[in-house]
Amino acid sequence: MKALTNKVKPVNRAPMSFMEKLYLPAIVHGMAITFSHIFKKKPTINYPEKKRPFSPVFRGLQILNRDEEGRENCTACGLCAVACPAEAITMEAAERESGEEHLYKEEKYAAKYEINMLRCIFCGLCEEACPKDAIYLSETFTPADYQRKQFIYNKQDLLIPHPKENPEAYQEALGNRANKTMVN
Ligand code: SF4
Ligand code: SF4
Repeated sequence: MKALTNKVKPVNRAPMSFMEKLYLPAIVHGMAITFSHIFKKKPTINYPEKKRPFSPVFRGLQILNRDEEGRENCTACGLCAVACPAEAITMEAAERESGEEHLYKEEKYAAKYEINMLRCIFCGLCEEACPKDAIYLSETFTPADYQRKQFIYNKQDLLIPHPKENPEAYQEALGNRANKTMVN
């Protein structure tokens, strides 16, 4: 049969010689390759004790952002859901009540906000579409889990820690974004 590419290598079906039947030269050759790697610099790292630096364009788990007062930025406009090519985002809007001004920045807010992480392709289009700086992709991996339903992240999973109540966790969640915000 004619090959589609020139990558096919013909198999050598000649009978094995006496030395080949001993397998010793092949074993010695294999061990020599193994030992030659012992003194080379390891390409692997001891994760999670050590972590590689992220690329500046790395896109990880989504974060729902708050302003400096701790109010939720999201106004449930739905632009992120429309922009999402994987249809991973769903939300329900609600009107802000009197006395809730310290919780929500705008008059409308997302009472429910969910992202299906099994659908998400971490393209970042939700972040680009958002007019309120309410969602961004962080430098955090989405943790592994055993159950599919655990990958439906709700608002509490996604909300950034409160900047006044938990400033350290807030700064950590901001990551490199904190430096960018300071530069801007
Ligand atoms: S990163 Fe892309 S796929 Fe994931 S939720 Fe945002 S828009 Fe959808
Ligand atoms: S995250 Fe941004 S784009 Fe999405 S609903 Fe909230 S305000 Fe609108």
